Amino acid sequence: MKVYIETYGCAAAQGDAAIMEGILLQRGYEIVGEPEKADFVVIVTCIVVDTTQQRMISRIKKFKEMGKKIVVAECMASALPDLVKKLDENAILLPPRYIHHIADAIEGKRDFIEKPKVGLPRKIGIRLNIPIAEGCIYNCSYCITKLARGRLTSFPLEGLVKDAENAIKKGCKELRLTTQDTASYGIDIGKSLPELINEIASIEGEFRIRIGMMHPLSAYRIFDELMEAYENEKVYKFIHLPLQSASDKILRAMRRGYTYDLFKEMVDEFRKRFRHSTFATDIIVAFPGEGEEEFNETIEALKELRPDITNVTRFSPRPFTEAAKLKKLPTQVAKQRSHAASELALKISYERNRELVGKTFRALLLEERNGWIVGKTDGYRSVYVKNAAIGEFVKVAIKKAKLTHLEGEITPQH
Ligand code: SF4
Repeated sequence: MKVYIETYGCAAAQGDAAIMEGILLQRGYEIVGEPEKADFVVIVTCIVVDTTQQRMISRIKKFKEMGKKIVVAECMASALPDLVKKLDENAILLPPRYIHHIADAIEGKRDFIEKPKVGLPRKIGIRLNIPIAEGCIYNCSYCITKLARGRLTSFPLEGLVKDAENAIKKGCKELRLTTQDTASYGIDIGKSLPELINEIASIEGEFRIRIGMMHPLSAYRIFDELMEAYENEKVYKFIHLPLQSASDKILRAMRRGYTYDLFKEMVDEFRKRFRHSTFATDIIVAFPGEGEEEFNETIEALKELRPDITNVTRFSPRPFTEAAKLKKLPTQVAKQRSHAASELALKISYERNRELVGKTFRALLLEERNGWIVGKTDGYRSVYVKNAAIGEFVKVAIKKAKLTHLEGEITPQH
């Protein structure tokens, strides 16, 4: 039987998609590149922003028109099952905690049981997203993911290390540890993220570990051990801490649990310890109650923190969340703010890249894009080079800065 998989969403969803593909292949299914050729379509869904949700809705409608049997996997299946059933009453729902039942679901079974995502077959490439936990310990007022993925359940450390080992043996060079908040990993099972990093980093071989998004408060609680773990050369000097707003008033309304000062303290420390690293953040503009003053606090914070990467999104009210009940700001205001913040973020990102021209870094080459080979430096900057092979570790002299990446030339390795 032929299956087509279409994936939306975050690194965790992509990690789950790799598991589903691995299971289907092991059970004898063929994975095809176009829905037309498939008997079953699996749509891996995300519900964080409304625009993506609308895109997925139209895709589900389209697959239904094509007469395809549909599996709606991941967040939409758990948070918005009624909506899915309205679109296609025959759609099979596969929430995030049951994705290991993908083949059973296609084969008509419905008695799903929860199981940690370790020791499962996976499609392994040069990069692999490894979900390390499911769910979250927080209750941000705007978040629907919590509803979709539930409370924190960390996967067993030994199982994750074994999966990492196996992936490296099969040629994987970049392990991406992902979940809703990697820094809270283990608090429910008496383990911690630094422990997990140390164990994975001690696996033999040349590879890199990318630590996914962390809630700032969780990161703060383990910060010293975390920075120690980052010292390992196999760990990219990359930290993704979503600020969301620099106004403490708005942070309180979002129920984020930290202040701007606490956040800044961590970023300063990380940058002091790891020069030429990457600090990525997320900003939500036009959250209900955000006046000019609060928005300006965020703009000033961007100027002060100078993130290497900033993802700006406009507040999007999500069903069943507390923030959806609050008074929305006019769309025009939200658009202006998003435009202003995005422009500033790009300008900063370019300036940060320009500071690296003339320097030389070690980089892992990971993929081909428009005639270039694209890699990541140890500080997780994207670097484009020519005449090189994917999978190699090389030394790159940085020649040019672009808005979102660097261009360089390979130099002899000593
Ligand atoms: S940290 Fe907040 S936004 Fe992120 S998953 Fe948890 S509750 Fe949702």
